[in-house]
Amino acid sequence: AAPPVLLDVNGIEVIYNHVILVLKGVSLQVPEGRIVALLGANGAGKTTTLRAVSNLLKGERGDVTKGQIRYRDERVERLSPAELVQRGVVQVMEGRHCFAHLTVEENLLAGAYTRRLGRGDTQEALERVYQYFPRLKQRRTSQAGYTSGGEQQMTAIGRALMASPNMILLDEPSMGLAPQIVEEIFQIVRDLNQREGVSFLLAEQNTNIALRYADYGYILENGRVVMDGAADALSANEDVKEFYLGIS
Ligand code: ATP
Repeated sequence: AAPPVLLDVNGIEVIYNHVILVLKGVSLQVPEGRIVALLGANGAGKTTTLRAVSNLLKGERGDVTKGQIRYRDERVERLSPAELVQRGVVQVMEGRHCFAHLTVEENLLAGAYTRRLGRGDTQEALERVYQYFPRLKQRRTSQAGYTSGGEQQMTAIGRALMASPNMILLDEPSMGLAPQIVEEIFQIVRDLNQREGVSFLLAEQNTNIALRYADYGYILENGRVVMDGAADALSANEDVKEFYLGIS
């Protein structure tokens, strides 16, 4: 049987600055325990979709003006990002956003604070992050700003993990990273999914790698979903090959 739907985005419209209509009725679903990719070119609306879910639009002067977003059947449009974290939904923003002057470990500890873990739980959460990211353990006393781009992306994901999420919204994890590091990061995403049951909604311009790791994909163009399907079906689709995978 199909797993229950964890996140249900239904016909959302997003307007920036009261005038710019950026999402024109986007619907998508993330079933429990699945990795779902949100694909499309620069500017298609991927980041906006993630921000709508995690309620991070306000700071950008954006508003959801139509549609509904449900997480485990609860309407979540009015919840703050912190309330979403309490329910297990955590966003990793594009561009990584580490605290450059703090150490890697201090960055990770900042993630625990969002879910108010006790001291023992925090230590346990930290060890769990280091299990998935041995590199971060080696670098734990380094200033985050001096670590590599890949390590910063790992720190950002590790920080999200500190809040024991059920679902991670991951924005463009491959951005600016060498192919080998991208592969390493996606393998960790897969491990987290398989071993911890974390569900992912991940925005990616790199269609090729996203479809190799995701179960299902949605392709956005100009604020609309133009195609969706199982990852292997999308990879085999002639239009996807021509326009998104660069093979024809
Ligand atoms: P990227 O890969 O660049 O993140 P994306 O698919 O995530 O692309 P969005 O960042 O969601 O796309 O942007 C969608 C559209 O919304 C673009 O046309 C962009 O210029 C516009 N946009 C994004 N943020 C704002 C904002 N704060 N104010 C006005 N317009 C915005």
